[in-house]
Amino acid sequence: MVRIHAGQPHFLQDLYLMNDWRIQARASHCQECGRGFTDGQPYHSMLWAKPGHYRRQDVCPQCWTQHYRQQARTRPDLVSYWRGLYEAPPSSSEPMPHDAVEELLRQLCQRQDARYWPAVYILAVMMERRRLLRVKEQFWRQGQRVFVYEHVRTGEAFTVPDPALKLSELGTVQRLVAHLLENGLPAQDGKRDSQTESRPVETTGLQPAETGASAHG
Ligand SMILES: [Zn+2]
Repeated sequence: MVRIHAGQPHFLQDLYLMNDWRIQARASHCQECGRGFTDGQPYHSMLWAKPGHYRRQDVCPQCWTQHYRQQARTRPDLVSYWRGLYEAPPSSSEPMPHDAVEELLRQLCQRQDARYWPAVYILAVMMERRRLLRVKEQFWRQGQRVFVYEHVRTGEAFTVPDPALKLSELGTVQRLVAHLLENGLPAQDGKRDSQTESRPVETTGLQPAETGASAHG
């Protein structure tokens, strides 16, 4: 992931914005006043355009009114905002239900590989149909529509650009998604150096499949 410093010209920032699919967790407290969110409490989420990435900020209704409501109309770097109801996270003893679609989507968001961009979109739509993701907002960036999905259970935000697929392209992407769901994501090829994931693994010529890529039953 290329990082550039704040203060770069806008055109440079925009170059790197396009493929930021990182999943952004919902805060458990107001990121302005620091008060903890309680179960069922409304919150306001904002998505700020930063060089190379989006940054999510969650605040309580009071802080929204006092500090941000006005900015929301005027600040061009505030690309999106939406409201939600805070739900206390499930206790760690409750196992998260296994869902192959969700698992693949998370892996692809982490991979940040433009080749899988249309697949990310298809998977998000599949999860939306299953009522696991909800579209909270959409905005336009570089002439491209970006959907802001929120995970219904965890409140995480997924920013998914609309690949504007033509009908003739849809079949190819759907076949790719079906293939990935069945076989898992192939191990990352050596073309891109990922600095974030340097795990000490013995290189025996054959790379082990990525962790978590297996699809059980
Ligand atoms: Zn607050």
